[in-house]
Amino acid sequence: MNIEIDKYSGFCFGVVYAIQMAEDELKNNNNLYCLGDIVHNNKEVERLNNLGLEIIDHKDLKNLKDCKVLIRAHGEPPETYKIALKNNIQLLDASCPVVLKLQHQIKEGYKQVSNINGQVIIFGKEGHAEVQGLLGQIGGDAIVVSEISDLNKINFEKPIYMYSQTTKSPETFSDIQNEITKRRLDIGINDPLQFVVNDTLCRQVSGREPQLKKFAKTHDIIVFVSGKKSSNGKMLFNSCKVENPNSYFISDIDELNPNWFTSASSVGICGATSTPLWLMELVSESIDKIK
Ligand code: SF4
Repeated sequence: MNIEIDKYSGFCFGVVYAIQMAEDELKNNNNLYCLGDIVHNNKEVERLNNLGLEIIDHKDLKNLKDCKVLIRAHGEPPETYKIALKNNIQLLDASCPVVLKLQHQIKEGYKQVSNINGQVIIFGKEGHAEVQGLLGQIGGDAIVVSEISDLNKINFEKPIYMYSQTTKSPETFSDIQNEITKRRLDIGINDPLQFVVNDTLCRQVSGREPQLKKFAKTHDIIVFVSGKKSSNGKMLFNSCKVENPNSYFISDIDELNPNWFTSASSVGICGATSTPLWLMELVSESIDKIK
């Protein structure tokens, strides 16, 4: 049986940067706090835990003083920086540059749309850390939508500036954009200046989708490796599944089912932007032992 690991799968540069920063710090210091999971992959978090990385939440942050805390790639709202200043916490800021740019964009867009009595729409997952960081830039004054049914929250008579969480699906983004356009037209509004669409999807994720679809078609079985909390993991796995119904989602090797491989002559292993290469290699070795 031929087993191939997709050479385009694995950490994006934002995640590489955050993990590198943590590892560099942990070389000189055997303890470092990180605000939220450094990456949506339990196995990688476990590895870094063993090096001394301690995951904390926002409640813990308020109770810490005089220490170092790593900010992960998802970015943070301004409130976090205020707490750090107040508590003499040194922040190691690994916010991804793509996310920082989006935070800045949304802040500027909010000023403009507020001047014309409009609203900001964020296509993203309610409660997701990146979305929280974005909402924090504009005092929480935005409507978060994740699917068409959420569009009922929007007032279509008012101007709309639309943005996206970086890791969402390009297809759903354009479905939502088209539906908003349609609903505005339905009530006789078609001024394009009043519906400003900012495609803020990260190309590190959306650029992988077409490549992954090709990869999924070239193997009998696809094993997609990702943490269950990873947004882009869910999105990229769905794309694999559409191309190849024999696609399976796993987070660890103990989820591999030998029955999947009985009549397969080739297996492709791929993953999300938060999936470490070492884990995909471990999956490959485990499948090799099954056959
Ligand atoms: S997916 Fe894109 S935006 Fe998110 S951390 Fe990676 S590079 Fe940055």
